[in-house]
Amino acid sequence: AKTHAAEKTYEIGTDVTFPPFEYANDNNKYVGIDMDLLRAIAKNQQFNVDIKPLGFNAAVQSIQSGQTDGMIAGMSVTPERKATFDFSNPYFDSGVVMATSDKNGVTSLNQLKGKKVAVKTGTAGAQYAQSIEKKYGFKTVTFDDSNNMYEDVMIGNSAACFEDNPVMQYAIKQGTKLKIVTKPANKGTYGFAVKKGQNQELLKKFNAGLANIKKSGEYQKIVNKYLNAKK
Ligand code: GLN
Repeated sequence: AKTHAAEKTYEIGTDVTFPPFEYANDNNKYVGIDMDLLRAIAKNQQFNVDIKPLGFNAAVQSIQSGQTDGMIAGMSVTPERKATFDFSNPYFDSGVVMATSDKNGVTSLNQLKGKKVAVKTGTAGAQYAQSIEKKYGFKTVTFDDSNNMYEDVMIGNSAACFEDNPVMQYAIKQGTKLKIVTKPANKGTYGFAVKKGQNQELLKKFNAGLANIKKSGEYQKIVNKYLNAKK
């Protein structure tokens, strides 16, 4: 992308691999719904972005320590996070689902007693799992990225994982050998985030750009490009 000297560059943290929202394509470029939306908004509002694929939890930490200006990572807007982040207007709906492998025969929460469940550090899915782990009698094991979490279920170490519904659906469509066995819980939305009280001009530009690309149809075009994509 071209950089214009007069335009400000913001450092934006994101996840390492969270398709269809962010992932490296064959040319090692970060693409996905979040990446395309952010670039379209930046273009519309005349700022530059320097994308840092840090991993979800590291992106959260890096905002809080002031190393990055903002983050976009399929990040759920939650009441807890609102204490330390300011969020943009919502740009996508999500919720947490449980996924299992055909091999282990687990199809419900009630079958998790005494079993291990894979979650991703610092995520809404992990928080949901931890909120019900006593009730269902399972233990959580944590991973830093979604692929390793899925893998742990596929090899049979964990009986299930908790992941965002649109992300799990997309992974399964792309060939990941897991299946979704619950309805989405803790439904909510994704938002772009900055540290609470900081980078308010960036947040304003994000919201203004988002409104513009929704109006122009570019938002829907980006979403469709990824969600209607064949393997
Ligand atoms: N939406 C979830 C969250 O905000 C997961 C995000 C992610 O794994 N990138 O915690």
